[in-house]
Parts: sequence; C-alpha cells; structure tokens
Amino acid sequence: MVAEGVLAARETSWSSAVSLEEHAVLAASELGSLISTLALEGYSVIGPAVRDGAIVYSAIESIQDLPQGWADEQAPGKYRLSPRNDDSFFGYVVGPQSWKKFLHPPEVRLWQAERQDGSFRILNNEATPEKAKAFLGVRACELAAIRIQDRVLLEDRYRDPIYEARRASAFVIAVQCTQAASTCFCSSMGTGPAVSEGADLVLTELQSGSHRFLVRAGTDRGSEVLSKLRTTAATEADLHQAQDGVQAAAATQVRSIDQNGIQELLYQNFEHPRWENLAARCLSCANCTMVCPTCFCTTVEDTSTVTGNHAERWRRWDSCFTQAFSYIHGGSIRNSSKSRYRQWITHKLAAWKDQFGSSGCVGCGRCITWCPVGIDITEEVRALRNGGDHGDS
Ligand code: SF4
Ligand code: SF4
Repeated sequence: MVAEGVLAARETSWSSAVSLEEHAVLAASELGSLISTLALEGYSVIGPAVRDGAIVYSAIESIQDLPQGWADEQAPGKYRLSPRNDDSFFGYVVGPQSWKKFLHPPEVRLWQAERQDGSFRILNNEATPEKAKAFLGVRACELAAIRIQDRVLLEDRYRDPIYEARRASAFVIAVQCTQAASTCFCSSMGTGPAVSEGADLVLTELQSGSHRFLVRAGTDRGSEVLSKLRTTAATEADLHQAQDGVQAAAATQVRSIDQNGIQELLYQNFEHPRWENLAARCLSCANCTMVCPTCFCTTVEDTSTVTGNHAERWRRWDSCFTQAFSYIHGGSIRNSSKSRYRQWITHKLAAWKDQFGSSGCVGCGRCITWCPVGIDITEEVRALRNGGDHGDS
C-alpha cells in the first residue's frame, strides 16, 4: 500500500520559498529531454494536446504533441482556440478536462462475477496495476484541486484505494500561469496563479530574450529528474521575468469571489429570490460538476448480460444536478433545478468548509466556460450579496 507516508513525505518537502539558488534555466529546445527522461524513468507522460478544437490532457510522446502556439479564449459559455503570436508551449489557461480524469477516473469496474456450475462466482477482481503517470502542465489551481481531493478521498474516515494508488505514483510538473482567462478567479480563492507547493517540478515559461523555462524542484524525486537535464544557472532577470508574468496573470483576473462571510451568506439565503432566477436559466445538464476538478461524487451501477451469466459492478462519476442523485424511497429530495443549483453552490462554497476545512472551489473558471447557458458562479454569489434577483447583479 502506498499510503500516508509517501504523501506526507511529499507534503513536507514542498517548498514555498522563491530564491535564485533553487532555480535553473531549461532551454525550450530541452523540453523534449524532460519528456524522454520521464519516459525512461518509467512514467507514462500525460500533458496538454489539441483535440477537437480544445486543449485536453492526453498521452505525450514528444514536444510535437504539445499545443505549441495556441491560446484559449474563454468567457461564460464560450471556449475557442486561437493562434498565438509566439511559440509558447503552455500559452493556454485550462481546458475542459482536469487531472481528476486520471486520479479519480470517470468509470472504474469494481468487480465482476460469472455463473459457473450452478453457482455465482466472483472473478479475480485485482486491478491491473497502472503505469505511473507524469502530469505535465499542472496549473496552480489544479494543484489546489488535487490537494482538495486528497483531503476528501485519502484523509477522511474512508480512503479510496483507487485514488490512493494513482496519486502516490504520480509525478507532478506544474507550469505557472503567466496569463489568465476572463473566467479565472484563482487569485480571490488563494489558489494561484503562483505555485507554492504540491509539485515535483515547477516550470515558468519565459519568452522575452530567448524561449526558455525557469525551473525548480519541489521534491527529492523532482531534483533527481532535474539533475538529468541540461540546465544553466538562473539569473535575477529570469526570476523577475517569471515573477512579473505570474503577477500579470493575477492582476488581469476580472472575476472574483469575496470570501468574507460567504458561509453565512449562503446559509442565511435558502429562500432568496435569486434561486428562482437561476432555475429559469439552469438546464440541469451537470456540465459544471463534470468539468469541476474538485467534484468527487460517484454512483454505483450493476449490469448483467442478457443470459444472466455475467455481472459487473461499475463506479461512475455522478452529479448533484441529476434528479436521481438525491433519490431515496418515495422520490427525490431535490427535484427542482432551483434546489439542485442551491445545493451545489452551498456545498461548494460553504458546507465544504465545515466538512473538509477549505472551500470546494479553486477558481479555475471551468464551470463558467462550460455552462451552455453561461451561468457564472462569481456573478451568482455577487447577486446574493447585493440582494439582486435578476441577471444584472
Ligand atoms: S466550482 Fe467552478 S470555478 Fe470552482 S473549482 Fe469547480 S469548476 Fe472551477
Ligand atoms: S449551471 Fe450550467 S452547467 Fe451547471 S447544470 Fe446548470 S446549465 Fe448545466
């Protein structure tokens, strides 16, 4: 079992200090060496790639697979890729997928059984060991989301062994944001855009002067990988350029959620007219929960063949936006869009704090971008705060 020790050891070696001595410079032309070094170390490298007009996370074999020269334009209900005027590898913000797809997969077969000689026999349900993965291009808000899922899936009364095995073997290469999408609000959530902890390696892509990465190791195994790459000493100018880029990503964020009194705000407004206004717009499509990097709910489904000779039990992502989610004997507890959206936002921003000690939102903005009708969590909080019940909060 991988367990506490590994995660705890990684936690203590995470560094939040930013000093010249701990940084080096990796030429952009050497990024491919990082990918091949990780492959030689036995990792399956997962990173950003362009698929079907979006940047998604998928297997990466070389720098040719990365979305070089692409930017993402995001707004409520809108996402589009556009060419950049430089050759940045990480010149986008976040796409529809998060690392949750690999750590807490959308579907997992829990067990299978077969009818044999007149009885039902549980088959060997040992999971095939997954190859360890290296995640390339993890943003600060995504690291915060992984820490939240650690808290929920590893550090509570029950531990999820599926998540645990995947999490403990994952090698994390963070890339600090030097630009923000119009939907980002990590700054107000205290989760980004600077990466302080949680990564084995932290990169910042620099374009002014020459195309290069400022890099530092956050763990011993990060240092080990870094030692195998051809790097040069970092200068004060490199450090300042990186800090300026990260500060610009924070300064250009146009959305925010004021955390002051947010629990009281939500707990004291169960009957606010804004919920009716929301219900008139929300389609209960569940997109917001599917794209959210912290939502963790699952359901269990049993299937069997028509002959009844083979049965399987699957765990699948579920969403509090479906009517079936709150079904108990006699019906659903939350059978209106109003009650489902209210439940989601109240859990995410208020009850999560009581339950797990932090907000359930990291400000990645995905639920805003991928909501087909452009419902904006930051605008909804503002409307509740201002007492508004219409779109003009
Ligand atoms: S609630 Fe929305 S902004 Fe917050 S973490 Fe989830 S998807 Fe991102
Ligand atoms: S808020 Fe938007 S994304 Fe979420 S369920 Fe409603 S319509 Fe779908």
